[in-house]
Amino acid sequence: MTVLLTGIGELVTNDPAADDLLGLVEDAALVVDGRQVAWVGRAADAPAADELVDLGGRAVLPGFVDSHSHLVFAGDRAQEFAARMSGTPYAAGGIRTTVAATRAATDEQLTSHVARLVEEMRRQGTTTVEIKSGYGLTVHDEARALAVARQFTEETTFLGAHVVPAEHADDPAAYVDLVTGPMLEAAAPHARWIDAFCERGAFDADQARAVLLAGEAAGLRGRLHANQLGPGPGVRLAAELGLAAVDHCTYLEDADVDALRDSGTIATLLPGVEFSTRQPYPSGRRLIDAGVRVALASDCNPGSCFTSSVPFCIALAVREMGMTPAEAVHAATYRGAEALDRHDVGALVPGRRADLVVLDAPSHVHLAYRPGVPLVAQTWVAGRAL
Ligand SMILES: [Zn+2]
Repeated sequence: MTVLLTGIGELVTNDPAADDLLGLVEDAALVVDGRQVAWVGRAADAPAADELVDLGGRAVLPGFVDSHSHLVFAGDRAQEFAARMSGTPYAAGGIRTTVAATRAATDEQLTSHVARLVEEMRRQGTTTVEIKSGYGLTVHDEARALAVARQFTEETTFLGAHVVPAEHADDPAAYVDLVTGPMLEAAAPHARWIDAFCERGAFDADQARAVLLAGEAAGLRGRLHANQLGPGPGVRLAAELGLAAVDHCTYLEDADVDALRDSGTIATLLPGVEFSTRQPYPSGRRLIDAGVRVALASDCNPGSCFTSSVPFCIALAVREMGMTPAEAVHAATYRGAEALDRHDVGALVPGRRADLVVLDAPSHVHLAYRPGVPLVAQTWVAGRAL
């Protein structure tokens, strides 16, 4: 079964062989064969197909690859947000509020909550999402969070080292032993990745290193939260360990930027966090100009950033982080896929999965030019419109 999508005013292919960053094709068409892209090019050259869909001049992009989210939780922290907007600074300890609510929730409550958020993401064009644990922080609750997440994505991340839970506050070293021992053993069957929050108030570099190395020994790949609340050793640790991605990167020294460039570790920027915590934004421009690969993701979570909208993050990246619309779209699609070490999504070229977004707009620029407007007309996953 083949479907010809034609009448595409602007097609973002992200073809790495193209001369321009986005591999743009105007007056384009695309053929879907089953789950995959079979052909892309000018509409005038399109082959015949079993079915034809005319998109009337709309723009088509690869589906967004949101490589950083925390969707398995219960409760909300709207009051904490309101307090922050009244002048209370954000601190990592607020995570414990969500931990208490998450432990008290049933499996069914957690599952239906994730389902609702994933649906919200789909409506906004996200076709691949990474989901972390990190609000259970017991052997049982971390494993169950990952089992819930696995129902929605292959990209599940064990984040037992999110914060030291209240019951271990007196002995963080014992908690790290738990995370790298029994908790990891219970989590690993449900996870592809391991992550840690390397930040003052959470875990230091030695603790984060121990967690990441234990995860790798258990067959998981590493990613890291670092340099969110201030300068620190996390970004250089991620580069040294050759992690796929290091996320936040809000406070960077020149040595951090050099380490990212030299290691090839992707810097995933999460501007919804700076928006929601009134922190200064990182400079995407500085990183890209230095030769660092930059991805964009939502960091959807109940504390520091409760948006599920990648289009919103694209608009912020353009307005606040010095990125061009093309760079921001590329960061939220192609680079997002790279940050998850995925080569089957993130681009619309033959052989990749037919995950795409149809915009009610003539070009990708409108994602930043018309912030806050629901421009996503259709989301397709694996060759099917949702
Ligand atoms: Zn996060």
